[in-house]
Amino acid sequence: MGVSTLSEQNFDLVVLGGGSGGYAAALRAIQLGSTVALIEKDRVGGTCLHRGCVPTKALLHAAEVADTAREAARFGVRAHLEGIDIASVTAYRQGIVGSKHKGLQGLLKARGIHVVEGEGRLVSPTTVLVGEDRYIGKNVVLATGSYSRSLPGLEIGGRVITSDQALELDVVPSSVIILGGGVIGVEFASVWTSFGAQVTLVEGLPHLVPNEEESISKQLERAFRKRGIDFKLGVRFQGVTQSTEGVVVTLEGGETLSADYLLVAVGRGPSTAGLGYEEVGVTVDRGFVVTNERLQTTVPGVYAVGDIVPGLQLAHRAFQHGIFVAEEIAGLKPVVIADVNIPKVTYCEPEIASVGYTEAKAASLHGADKVTSYDYNLAGNAKSHILETSGSVKVVRLVDGPIIGIHMIGGRVGELVGEAQLAVNWEAYPEDVAPLIHAHPTQNEALGEAFLKLAGKPLNAL
Ligand SMILES: Cc1cc2nc3c(=O)[nH]c(=O)nc-3n(C[C@H](O)[C@H](O)[C@H](O)COP(=O)(O)OP(=O)(O)OC[C@H]3O[C@@H](n4cnc5c(N)ncnc54)[C@H](O)[C@@H]3O)c2cc1C
Repeated sequence: MGVSTLSEQNFDLVVLGGGSGGYAAALRAIQLGSTVALIEKDRVGGTCLHRGCVPTKALLHAAEVADTAREAARFGVRAHLEGIDIASVTAYRQGIVGSKHKGLQGLLKARGIHVVEGEGRLVSPTTVLVGEDRYIGKNVVLATGSYSRSLPGLEIGGRVITSDQALELDVVPSSVIILGGGVIGVEFASVWTSFGAQVTLVEGLPHLVPNEEESISKQLERAFRKRGIDFKLGVRFQGVTQSTEGVVVTLEGGETLSADYLLVAVGRGPSTAGLGYEEVGVTVDRGFVVTNERLQTTVPGVYAVGDIVPGLQLAHRAFQHGIFVAEEIAGLKPVVIADVNIPKVTYCEPEIASVGYTEAKAASLHGADKVTSYDYNLAGNAKSHILETSGSVKVVRLVDGPIIGIHMIGGRVGELVGEAQLAVNWEAYPEDVAPLIHAHPTQNEALGEAFLKLAGKPLNAL
């Protein structure tokens, strides 16, 4: 009979999954005086740091540099884009991810979080098993994140790839078909186009970025058309064949498209299968963990955060969830932030940024006569003109009431979402914020102009 190596360790909080949601919960809990174990099977930082936000934004920045070089002559600068050295782009991307990963590991250690390397499984409402070791917590946070989904019958492999493989490609493809015109699809379309590839997007719904205000989708479609990005809207994928040379995609209706690769970007599924959740009594619906608005699962003492909780799958939502749960457990009664008030940025060129209700949604909730808006064209904004970007900033308000939505498109508008989310979340009235001053010349002035107009005193607008 062998000697049992089973060990048991007790903590105030055990967190399963060390991505954005999990490590935020761990950091906030330890700040509030708890002892914390953080269990991670791969690398702390999760999808966002290693396969999501950070590496894709590095690629998008390299793409912007390529565009700047290509278009330099328009600004009177003599430059010549020789091409993309993908090995150097990879080194740049990996350098950023590696450094942020090291920083995070150092932070977790310095704060005294017990990081466990290994695959965990929930075996009771208070216990996560990793190999032979039991980690017991007064509370448990489930934070196991998400994976790239595919369609039934559409197998990933070879030249049919997801964003995970797309990031690691060691070539710039000459052509790509992208299935899915959501955030991940349009961001890769933007990168590859800037790098010189011919891209075709296929989206089953009538518009690209279908979760955004329709006028924003239409402006993106115009901008993409101008950039030479092809897209097929309202059409469904039927099948794909691949050879060593490339892929041939068939669409509903029989049209075929060929390219070097097919990127499948049809959304992300929750990573919850086989982790013991349901066996312990945690209710799961289509793979997502069901919680109340305070992120408690159906098992007392067990919470869920991030992409496994139905709703927006964004890193900053996961961070906020993690902080929220740590504070909730500590009895601080944190304020619930509704998903609609979480800012969203799509980092393609041109960028899209939004927070709050679209005008259509606001009208359906409050009645069309209770909602008004102003759509300020960036053509009137000096800094946007200097950058040679076009687009708009739309502010939606309740009549005689607060700002309830802001929707923007244009180069660099992602950076404006900070002010936009403050206005919406603080339920500011245009009359409150219109007298406040924006520096000139900045793109922030576009928001200021929209506030002025809605407060009845437009300066540079009619
Ligand atoms: C290509 C791409 C681009 C993106 N860009 C952005 C962006 O620009 N901005 C933005 O806000 N969001 C972006 N996202 C989304 C963002 O990455 C996610 O919303 C975020 O990572 C969710 O955090 P999470 O903690 O819920 O899950 P994850 O980050 O997925 O972390 C879950 C962690 O749990 C670990 N784990 C899973 N099961 C176990 C187990 N059994 N035992 C131990 N560990 C386990 C995993 O290894 C992983 O590290 C992007 C995503 C992708 C794919």
